Amino acid sequence: MELKLNKIMPSENESKKVEKMIIIGAGPAGLSAALYAARAELAPLVLTGMSLGGQASLTHTIENYPGFPEGVGGAELGELFQKQAERFGARFEFDTVTEVDFSVSPYIVKTYSSEYKAETVIISTGANPNHLEIPGEVDLTGKGVSYCGTCDGWFFKDKDIVVIGGGDSALEEGVFLTRFAKTVTIIHRRDELRAGKILQTRAFSNPKIRFIWDSIIEKINGTTAVESVRVRNVKTGEESTFPTDGVFVFIGHTPNTDLFKGQLAMDESGYLIVDDKMQTKIPGIYAAGEAMDPNFKQVVTSTGWGASAAIQATKYLEEKNS
Ligand code: NAP
Repeated sequence: MELKLNKIMPSENESKKVEKMIIIGAGPAGLSAALYAARAELAPLVLTGMSLGGQASLTHTIENYPGFPEGVGGAELGELFQKQAERFGARFEFDTVTEVDFSVSPYIVKTYSSEYKAETVIISTGANPNHLEIPGEVDLTGKGVSYCGTCDGWFFKDKDIVVIGGGDSALEEGVFLTRFAKTVTIIHRRDELRAGKILQTRAFSNPKIRFIWDSIIEKINGTTAVESVRVRNVKTGEESTFPTDGVFVFIGHTPNTDLFKGQLAMDESGYLIVDDKMQTKIPGIYAAGEAMDPNFKQVVTSTGWGASAAIQATKYLEEKNS
């Protein structure tokens, strides 16, 4: 893509000033980028989308973010990140980006209610939970099908629920859901968990949790509420109907990068490709956090990437405008 680099000199009658930095997304990566950019006196503008704090804010307790020996609430951590960034001059707009144009510089970022120009952009749009894509899932979402234990667990007091998946999310959320549910049955497609050992130990020792191994669910049954799931053992082919009040799905994530298709390089799963300085193939456009991370997906790694992107963007601006 050929870049048309204009000198950044907004004319007097130009209605919008050119932002030094726009950060798209306000999860741990975006909020850390905002903190670093604010401390570099760039007064970054964070376009938050629909939520602050990203997926981490939906986690009840985060126990592996350094500095909080007793753990910290996901939403609370997001608020702390925001406060810290605001203290140094970061600005927040609760608006969703609908379109970007990175073929001209300053870069154009359109939202539902406005249009911005920016010398640098940090993309920290995160990732969304994957869906099973089986019959009943869409119709019963919000009627017993959920992708967030912290958000919906309370509705399942003394109920029997199933959790789908065998990774950290499935086990962490499964254990959390035992606060409310009578039983939590984790249905996993293999006989070995992907989740880390600590979570495995916690799940195996929890009397409310049981496992169904080597199995997938093929259909969620119910009309106004979830009533059961059809389970198939992938080894034996045996099918059964398992009664349940709720289905919590934790089977991985897909990056929120559709907005950048055709403009930025991404891998086959949609993760943005950046160099070792967090820069995409376009100078001044950076990506950080789960939008570019298919591997680690930790709050601590996302914050690190956000900070790195902001440091690099600051250097880029210094060189460009010197
Ligand atoms: P994940 O690690 O990708 O695990 C997804 C799980 O869902 C896997 O067990 C996978 O099975 C299963 N799965 C995938 N597609 C499926 C399908 N169509 N039907 C049935 N099962 C399916 O995702 P995650 O658990 O959300 O974790 C994502 C990342 O966040 C990981 O890096 C994880 O370490 C991290 N994380 C960390 C913490 C923590 O540190 N406390 C908490 C949450 C998440 P297979 O195992 O057979 O592939």
